[in-house]
Amino acid sequence: MGDTKYPVWVIAEQILGEIPPVSLEITGQARILAERLGVEVEAILLGNGIEDQVDLLFSAGADVVHLGSAPEFTNYQCEIFTESIVARARDRNPQIILIGSTFMGRELAPLIAAKLGTGLTAHCIDLVLDDNGVLEQQIPAYGGLMSIVCPEKRPQIATVARGVFPMPNLDEDRSGSVLPVEPPQGIKIRVQTLEVVHTEPEGVPLETAPIVVAGGAGAGSLEGWLEIQELADTLKAAFGSTRPAVDEGWTDLETMIGQSGKMVNPDLYIGVGLSGEQQHMVGITGAKVMIAINNDPKAPVFEQVDYGIVEDCRIFIPALVERIMKLKSHAGRTAHVV
Ligand SMILES: Cc1cc2nc3c(=O)[nH]c(=O)nc-3n(C[C@H](O)[C@H](O)[C@H](O)COP(=O)(O)OP(=O)(O)OC[C@H]3O[C@@H](n4cnc5c(N)ncnc54)[C@H](O)[C@@H]3O)c2cc1C
Repeated sequence: MGDTKYPVWVIAEQILGEIPPVSLEITGQARILAERLGVEVEAILLGNGIEDQVDLLFSAGADVVHLGSAPEFTNYQCEIFTESIVARARDRNPQIILIGSTFMGRELAPLIAAKLGTGLTAHCIDLVLDDNGVLEQQIPAYGGLMSIVCPEKRPQIATVARGVFPMPNLDEDRSGSVLPVEPPQGIKIRVQTLEVVHTEPEGVPLETAPIVVAGGAGAGSLEGWLEIQELADTLKAAFGSTRPAVDEGWTDLETMIGQSGKMVNPDLYIGVGLSGEQQHMVGITGAKVMIAINNDPKAPVFEQVDYGIVEDCRIFIPALVERIMKLKSHAGRTAHVV
């Protein structure tokens, strides 16, 4: 089935010298695909002094790691990284390249695809092989799932967000071979990353929060948005968003849930003023209990959640927050019996 010669590739990432979970998740998925194809998994990792991270890639499923360890690779540099990856890909002819939908991956993937003259499917939510070993790159579309295939050109390139695939069982007994990658010489650098600064995210992190409140376009304004945020704060929940809320500037991209945002797995998800479009809903398939608040009884979100509340969020949310605050203050009161 498929090309039984050419490897499945993973572009692994390092941030301040550490491999993020998404790189290991896609390495695990690459292993599954490679075993079906009967080929090897190769990862490419560029950084500086990151030799200690290589074993992690082997334990997640890589057979070969192309390792670039040089000062030029310390931080992600778009032109240097693209050039190095493309040159090595031309040597090894991978049939599939998986890349994390991270800030780095979102920029690198189209550059690599364009230079290699092939296609790219961004933000896939599943990757399977058809009977001929062609990669079906699944994305949400038209209220369901759509498979995109790249039948002729190689490699087949897909980006995948964190949490789409599970973290593989890390097998510390696995090992493989390391092939060095040298920084490219004499290329024109027009864009440079000068520094990478680590900042702790504010509030409860979406990916691990037991309760997630997400707001959508139905908030109507920044004022409406802040009311939904207050609900999240009151419940000590993480606060997520849909695309229009980001576009309106009420919040930033880091809070977006869905196909091109984050995947969440809370015990409780509360969606406020959002319609239930697939591109958002694929991000919450792991939620245990889902509640939606929308003023349109016909909103598609009501067909996808456990509990639906047909209400204007501008009226309902402040009233709900007030009610919760009252309940909290009662719970904290000590009764004095005389
Ligand atoms: C390739 C691609 C990738 C995408 N990726 C993502 C993604 O990762 N995440 C994402 O979220 N989107 C994504 N989108 C956008 C997605 O398709 C939808 O456009 C978006 O999710 C809709 O957001 P929404 O539900 O907030 O807005 P709308 O669809 O406009 O829905 C607003 C809802 O609010 C309700 N409403 C209005 N006023 C009130 C009120 N006062 N009280 C209560 N309810 C009210 C309305 O009835 C309506 O149902 C993507 C799109 C594409 C094409």
